[in-house]
Amino acid sequence: MAHIAFLSPPAAGHLNPTLPIARELVARGHRVSYPAAPSVADRIRETGAEVLRYSPRQSEPIVIDGMDAAARATLALLQDLEHDLPQIEAGYAGDRPDLIVNDWLAWAGPMLAAKWGVPRIQSWSAHAASEGYDFGRFVAAMFAASPIKARFDDLLATVLDRHGVPPFELHDFYRPAEFNLVYQPRSFHVHNDTFDDRYAFVGPTRPSDPQGWTPPGRPLVYVSLGTIISDPAFFRACIQAFTGQPYQVVLSVGHDIDPAALGPLPAGIEAHQQVPQPAVLAHTDVFVTHAGMNSAMEALAAAVPMVAVPSTPEQQTTADRVAELGLGQTFSPTEATPDRLRDAVRDLLDDAATKQRMRAMQHDVREAGGAPRAADAIEARLSSAKTTASR
Ligand code: UDP
Repeated sequence: MAHIAFLSPPAAGHLNPTLPIARELVARGHRVSYPAAPSVADRIRETGAEVLRYSPRQSEPIVIDGMDAAARATLALLQDLEHDLPQIEAGYAGDRPDLIVNDWLAWAGPMLAAKWGVPRIQSWSAHAASEGYDFGRFVAAMFAASPIKARFDDLLATVLDRHGVPPFELHDFYRPAEFNLVYQPRSFHVHNDTFDDRYAFVGPTRPSDPQGWTPPGRPLVYVSLGTIISDPAFFRACIQAFTGQPYQVVLSVGHDIDPAALGPLPAGIEAHQQVPQPAVLAHTDVFVTHAGMNSAMEALAAAVPMVAVPSTPEQQTTADRVAELGLGQTFSPTEATPDRLRDAVRDLLDDAATKQRMRAMQHDVREAGGAPRAADAIEARLSSAKTTASR
């Protein structure tokens, strides 16, 4: 059996799709190790993976709602790498893994794989890069015009010098690895004709779980902006939109908003800081979402039409794809007035054609195979690496 190292930033959107894969590999008898910040150690340990604790750099999450924020977030990734990499490497002293599976923003993955000469799989918790869809090109162009670029380049030179790995440049961190896991069904992915057999489109890995939560009633509208965006005004607009409407509404407002601060809620509307989302989606009729990749995929798995209100370029790409494939509607946060929200939800509740397309997409999700298919792909990569090494 093999030793597989998983690397991910602690953010839910990056970590969540990997946990069921780690669990599946452990169940198949593999040893899985996972460097972890204290905030996520318990969630990782529950999968049966070995936790290698490290202390992350203290920083505020950055919502990438413009070029300046995107540049700051990119520099922050490198600062995280500088801080975390020595600790992660120390955790593997004398105990190198056979394979690394790293989230696309866990930059320690490509560096350690190069340093140790071990095979690597990239875990695309966002849209995957190919020649046809190259997010790195966008980041590099964005950086070219940024005053932060010089700081980034200096720090990158320091990190590369310290670790003695081949000279990466910014764009390299966004390129596909020799093998890639994508948590979307291929039919949903943008530019899906530009991906070759280096990519496994396994779809969402967290199955929907109808037994995990009891709905307050139906029809049910579920509203969430994910785990990073905090926007009380948006939830107030939702409350105004849905007051007196003939359905139940569940708001997941996130840990930075006190539900009580939204004021007394009218009948039929409830607010929580967090809910068990895949279980809630199993009972949901319309999902008002920021179109985070995981949220969108969990909605496809449960065949729930979306009102997608994206804030970041990546969410915009996902939201546009939702609209293009007829799986819901999209508009920007500034357009999300109570009237617009109410109309969009009412239209989707009554829309049999959208529901039909959602069911077809749910079929594609099932065919994609989720965590077991991802574990198959990892095992296949392990055997091909072994064959190459023994030649
Ligand atoms: N999530 C959850 N409960 C909540 C809100 C979110 O379990 O109340 C989970 C959700 O199921 C998803 C992740 O948090 O797996 C959010 O990831 P996504 O990529 O959608 O957005 P992000 O938080 O990264 O913006």
